[in-house]
Amino acid sequence: MTQTQFVLLATGTPRYRPGRAQQSSAVIVDDQAYLIDCGDGAMVRIAEAVNRGIEALTFMRLTHLFLTHLHPDHTCGLPGLLIGPWVMRRKATLQIYGPAGSRTLVNGLLAAYKGGIDAHRYGLGPLNHPLTVEIHEYTAGEIYRDDRVTVSAFPVDHGDVETYGLKFVTPDKVIVHSADTRPTPSLLEHARGCDILIHEVYMRQSLLDTFGPEWQRYHTAMHTSEVELAEIANQTRPKLLVLNHQMIWGDHTIEAMMAELTSRYDGPVVYGRDLDVFT
Ligand SMILES: [Zn+2]
Ligand SMILES: [Zn+2]
Repeated sequence: MTQTQFVLLATGTPRYRPGRAQQSSAVIVDDQAYLIDCGDGAMVRIAEAVNRGIEALTFMRLTHLFLTHLHPDHTCGLPGLLIGPWVMRRKATLQIYGPAGSRTLVNGLLAAYKGGIDAHRYGLGPLNHPLTVEIHEYTAGEIYRDDRVTVSAFPVDHGDVETYGLKFVTPDKVIVHSADTRPTPSLLEHARGCDILIHEVYMRQSLLDTFGPEWQRYHTAMHTSEVELAEIANQTRPKLLVLNHQMIWGDHTIEAMMAELTSRYDGPVVYGRDLDVFT
């Protein structure tokens, strides 16, 4: 029988914090992993997950990556994923699915690292196998399908950055990842009744107390507060809501944000942390 797991590898944001690598997670169906985003530090989290027994994340088996958008906190780990497993003898082609601009980004990284890649290839102890990557630039709709999973992308509203939420349908689970977004009807439509909704969040009061009008405008145009997220959860009723990409500024606490959220939404909710696993 199929077993699907969601591994929240890394919950971080552009603002570096102890204990949080930048955005990355994985849907794992039996022994195949489907990575979502690859921020700075993702490869270390992947290695830690393997140490905890999640064999599907073994470097050699990482063949599928889905990028929600190209903000650096979701893509700064790409050179590591492109090159590290290849050095460790990954022979399969790495398949990368991402929005417009992904091809330019990946090819640019490969060009930037050409010297180092060639040193591995032609230096002492050369690697004879090619480093092969296929880039699939997608727009909304079904973007991938195999016998374990169907992946659909739906546009979300992350200001002026082309961004997609992702929906993974496997034999035993429906998992929806919000990506970075302000509240948007497309997410409601796709997340209704799902098993796990992974959603970004910021704490409203901490935004009001910490920043002036300009940054307040920015964050409300780009992201989702816990007050808004409670409303989204009430409308979609996921079996489990997992908070990700959390932004709490100043002296405000996780407990205070969770109290605000749970005073408005009574369903199961988890404040996600790096390396949390959900089944
Ligand atoms: Zn982000
Ligand atoms: Zn973003």
